Amino acid sequence: AKANGRNRYHFYNHRLDNEQSERVELENALFQALRHEEFELHYQPQIEIQSGRIIGVEALIRWQRPGHGMVSPANFIPLAEENGLITEIGSWVLERACAQLQQWQQQGLDLRVSVNLSAPQLDDANFCDKVARCLKRYRLDPSQLELELTESIIMKHVDQTIQLLEQLDKMGVHLSVDDFGTGYSSLSYLKRFPLNKLKIDQSFVREICVDPDDATICRTIISMADNLNLTVIAEGVEDADQLAMLAEFGCHQYQGYFFSRPVPAEQIPDLFDNTEQP
Ligand code: C2E
Ligand code: CA
Ligand code: CA
Ligand code: CA
Repeated sequence: AKANGRNRYHFYNHRLDNEQSERVELENALFQALRHEEFELHYQPQIEIQSGRIIGVEALIRWQRPGHGMVSPANFIPLAEENGLITEIGSWVLERACAQLQQWQQQGLDLRVSVNLSAPQLDDANFCDKVARCLKRYRLDPSQLELELTESIIMKHVDQTIQLLEQLDKMGVHLSVDDFGTGYSSLSYLKRFPLNKLKIDQSFVREICVDPDDATICRTIISMADNLNLTVIAEGVEDADQLAMLAEFGCHQYQGYFFSRPVPAEQIPDLFDNTEQP
């Protein structure tokens, strides 16, 4: 029995060693990734439901890790948040998205770009300045930039966050609540913070046509947003039936595979042309 126990101990230890070394390797690779320009942004169109037009795009990071193909942000953003790299990555995302927006603007495309934020980025005392400098460098109107925050980011250091968001709001930058409805937080922040948009989380949209509870949740979020003068966008719309139901509820905008997956920047002008009225 003793020997068995020892073997088992060794077995688990090896497995842990493997997991740990894989993690260290991933982390090392992540540290190199910025310098080696392995990140890129893909963009997913956001559609105004009434007109059917693209009014914006969400920037979503992609990591082409050598020897591993495309790594999903779900597999490296949390790690980057833990080790602090997210601040640098986040600055790169902001810069890249603004540069791209300027290029689209020069091609005559009128749209807004949404950028996802992580909590550590807001701890950076220079965050507002970074945003302001970026907008200036690419000669963008601040209202063309939207920053997406989750409820947990908003609720992290309420007093600091309010100040920061008020500064951004004063600059004219748009602010949206990502994954709305999943944050287990009270709704009182909605009236205390200068927000422009709620993004209904895809978990409520997925079964909107088959689960009456999900339909009720979506309908309720939409009517609440309307009454609070907030724009509301549904995420993860994959088919026409979901879109029809959201339209019936009065949802303003949507994004999802039904219209388009996130695509490289070069593909956005074509998608845009297809939705413009002649
Ligand atoms: P998110 O911000 O909630 O982004 C939406 C995710 O849903 C994206 O996954 C998108 O590709 C996916 N999606 C879009 N439409 C559909 C659909 O119709 N059906 C389904 N099933 N999925 C859809 P992605 O690109 O893998 O990103 C995952 C998460 O990683 C994002 O969730 C966001 O939290 C984070 N992320 C991505 N880019 C960045 C970034 O630049 N900075 C930060 N801080 N986080 C990022
Ligand atoms: Ca988002
Ligand atoms: Ca989301
Ligand atoms: Ca999410």
